Amino acid sequence: MLSGSLASAGHESKRRRVVPLPKGIVAMQTFMPDSSVVSDVIPSPNFGERNKARRPDMIVLHYTGMPDVEGALTRLCKAGTEVSAHYVVLEDGRILQCVPESKRAWHAGVAKWAGEDDINSCSIGIEIINRGHDWGYPDYPLRQIAAVITLCRGIIIRRNVPPHRVLGHSDVAPSRKKDPGEKFPWRSLAASGVGHWVEPAPIEAGAGFRLGAEGEQIRVMQQALADYGYGIAATGKYDPATVEVVSAFQRHFRPEKVDGVADGSTLATLHALLGELPIDVRATAALT
Ligand SMILES: [Zn+2]
Repeated sequence: MLSGSLASAGHESKRRRVVPLPKGIVAMQTFMPDSSVVSDVIPSPNFGERNKARRPDMIVLHYTGMPDVEGALTRLCKAGTEVSAHYVVLEDGRILQCVPESKRAWHAGVAKWAGEDDINSCSIGIEIINRGHDWGYPDYPLRQIAAVITLCRGIIIRRNVPPHRVLGHSDVAPSRKKDPGEKFPWRSLAASGVGHWVEPAPIEAGAGFRLGAEGEQIRVMQQALADYGYGIAATGKYDPATVEVVSAFQRHFRPEKVDGVADGSTLATLHALLGELPIDVRATAALT
């Protein structure tokens, strides 16, 4: 009576529930998930080899920025889109894996951090289902954040990822990207041992550096951002690229106000973070 058909029916309905598998995805050879918290594998053909067999030591977090889950999964798993990520975290906390961690997924695009510009080769990419700024930008559900934390903790241990190399897409591509955005609870992640965080310095009324400013103080600020890892040139000119990098910094580390103005709170928070970086990391950053 406890027949295989019952068991398989149960299995099938569970799978239907787990993944709204998009149409048009070619059946691909599956693989063993790298993490025990993965609830299903949906293989994506969109990956390659890591250049120079680079071992990943960075995590890049994204939001999908699309109105529905099925569309997002189609984009990540269908041949020809040239987009993928290693993991997708659904709103209810289930975790899918699309690319093995050993392979180079295509999530970061043109990006830069700490002197490296092949971010896909050095990182693990995690897409978090969220409609993003263009579609109303809902809050991230707690259950989803708990899943992101659990997934990241495993990767951090397996891959020896240092806290300051758990980053947002906007950190590595500030001129093009806003994800995962200022609603992403980096503070909660840090409280669970994921990522680098200091309590942001309080926002106070007063002037700050902004677009058009020039001088040595601007150059010093740009160098501090570059020392932390951001792809920015220390030109001494507060140009549009500087506004974008300062905005990316704020989205991650001072999310209460994202305006691209380097006010006292932004600068104090930056220097507190730099002060907590390991000495050898700062030395390396200064050389690049
Ligand atoms: Zn992204």
